[in-house]
Amino acid sequence: MLIISNCQISTGEGNETKTVDICVDGEKILSVIPRSEATKDPPSADVIDATGLLAIPGAIDAHVHFDTPGFEDREDFAHGTRAAAAGGVTTVIDMPDTCMPPVTSVANLENKLKVIERVAYVDFALWGGVSQNSMRGEPSLHLVGATDWFADMEELWKAGVVAFKTYMISGMDTFRALSFIEMGQVMQYARKIGALVGVHAEEGKLIAERMAALNVLNKNKIDDYYASRAEPAEKDGIALAIGLARETKARVHIVHVASGQGANLIAWAKSIGVDISAETCPHYLAFTKDDFKKFGSLIKTAPVIKESGDRSALWQGLADGSLDFIATDHAPAPLEQKKTGNAWKDYGGIPGVELMLPFAFSEGYKKKKLTLTKLIEVTSTNAAKRFGLFPQKGTLAVGSDADIVLINPKKAHKIDQSKMHSKAKWTPFNGQKFAGKIVKTILRGKVIYSEKGDVAAEPQGKWIKRNS
Ligand SMILES: [Zn+2]
Repeated sequence: MLIISNCQISTGEGNETKTVDICVDGEKILSVIPRSEATKDPPSADVIDATGLLAIPGAIDAHVHFDTPGFEDREDFAHGTRAAAAGGVTTVIDMPDTCMPPVTSVANLENKLKVIERVAYVDFALWGGVSQNSMRGEPSLHLVGATDWFADMEELWKAGVVAFKTYMISGMDTFRALSFIEMGQVMQYARKIGALVGVHAEEGKLIAERMAALNVLNKNKIDDYYASRAEPAEKDGIALAIGLARETKARVHIVHVASGQGANLIAWAKSIGVDISAETCPHYLAFTKDDFKKFGSLIKTAPVIKESGDRSALWQGLADGSLDFIATDHAPAPLEQKKTGNAWKDYGGIPGVELMLPFAFSEGYKKKKLTLTKLIEVTSTNAAKRFGLFPQKGTLAVGSDADIVLINPKKAHKIDQSKMHSKAKWTPFNGQKFAGKIVKTILRGKVIYSEKGDVAAEPQGKWIKRNS
């Protein structure tokens, strides 16, 4: 038995906390007892003295690209999950599109599982995906003969993936974007089997037209990339996705929202009963397009980082519930792929998983943009609920997995990119000081990270299937 003694937990009301002992039996939370009622610790128990520390549910990063198998030069599952452990993330949900073959069938899912199950330091759930390639049955993407895309979807859903990723615009030949009609077909079928569809929502035709015009003029700087992706590209994409969700009555999730107007549209869609959810990312909450001067393509992402009005609207959206949670879209690459001299060719994506919780704690909670209750919702509970992992994950309730992060709210943490656990030893947050410091990360009752002892030597993560 493990006892985390004398820690502060949220009462679920604003910033209010109470002092408790959390008892863990094996992998599960056995009891959460007010400190005043706790009897003497049983002599056989391991005790972590958590005096002065805050205990919150392990964070969930519902959007990571760990690239295994296939693109391990950029990131791999071992490094990505070690970074997660160090960042207080106890469950990641890995995307289906940046591994080879992509997770568009159960055969491909099993192929990926074989490789990643042995090297995961935190628990993981998995996205399935539908690409134009898979809809058209291009056999090179399937390990065994291609079945119909809808049969693939149904089998993947039954196997336990949490959602299906789709793109309106994609930079990957191995996972091409869907046409408007194809996207509608996927949503229609998802509605039939009860599945959730994730959408990368940017209006592809508008962006393609702008890119063509810029290319004619040989424009290839990061400002040109920004111009190609600036609004209304994302807002229009989100509007299209909402239209399809309304028409098909599918459950839809908009990934990485960067647009304030997009967030407002999602709030409106929710108000009229569309079953829609959305996430935003630390880079959209931290930076604006002015930061391209300093960072160039280091902060090149899709959607593009937008204006300060968007940034404040995204914080507001998290606070008022129009946006459901923070995820990172963790997608690093070696620096030489980020600095090719041509912004179109620079890799789009940044590392994120290790700093998601420290960022949200410091810049959201400590700076009073989010209450403690909201912080827990947007870093853990809401993602667990939307992706069918709750209440196993996302809460400190009795019977839940003992995934717990201990944070010292009085300490500060200066970001040193050379010490990051990801394959990428760079971050635009380098040198920044975050308020609060992760002291321990506990996964199903085992300490997998501590500020002194670092990440556990053995990988202990396992696949968490969506509960039905
Ligand atoms: Zn992504």
